[in-house]
Amino acid sequence: MSEQEQNKVAVVIIAHPDDAEFGCAGTVATWIDDGWEVYYVVCTDASGGGPDDATDVGPAARQAVAETRKREQRAAGEVLSLKDVIFLDYPDGQLQPTTELRRDLVRVLRRYRPTRVVFQSPERVWTPMLIIPRHHPDHLAAGQAAIVAIYPASQNAWDFSELLQEGLLPHKVREIYIMGAPSPNHVVDISTTIERKLAALQAHVSQHVNNPAMEEFLRTRSAELGNKYDMAYAEEFHRTEMR
Ligand SMILES: [Zn+2]
Repeated sequence: MSEQEQNKVAVVIIAHPDDAEFGCAGTVATWIDDGWEVYYVVCTDASGGGPDDATDVGPAARQAVAETRKREQRAAGEVLSLKDVIFLDYPDGQLQPTTELRRDLVRVLRRYRPTRVVFQSPERVWTPMLIIPRHHPDHLAAGQAAIVAIYPASQNAWDFSELLQEGLLPHKVREIYIMGAPSPNHVVDISTTIERKLAALQAHVSQHVNNPAMEEFLRTRSAELGNKYDMAYAEEFHRTEMR
């Protein structure tokens, strides 16, 4: 077994607080139960996560929203026993798959050296019943930046050569798990961790004030996915091994 196969470290790259609770927290909890160390990387500063009908959206209000949502994401991390939650602090609602974001993600990948990386699909999925949040431009941008950070940049010393000066050597990610992908090919049974997934979601208190039915929606959705695979609750991904 290679050194990398023994490295039970996973990184979850998301645009906003609570994105991972919807997409992969049940899976993350199964991995943590199996001895993995998991880090969340939130690309934005979460400053745009207040109510859609808010009237005060000035800098002070944005700052207050950002602080609340970061605190809530850290609390969700404690529910799940994450190793850490890292915020890259790009302005919420304006995320782009820039070279700067790619460099920041490569820095994280080279520092924590994960075997597995989870991220949001960079593609829109058109279905009769749209899951609209999957089409959020920040989600698409985070996914696009993540996949190009993983390949080739993280594993190629010639990409972002300045990171070598920080002592960050190239790193090859072994497995990727894409949330909300057009063609899921991998299911994870989360029957033993569904309550932790929902408890982590509940930690995002400010979001529940606006939408108290969110937990019920997520439980039902997880059960519907489980039903497809003869499981009580499930999460599905497009999983790919990088060779
Ligand atoms: Zn989001």
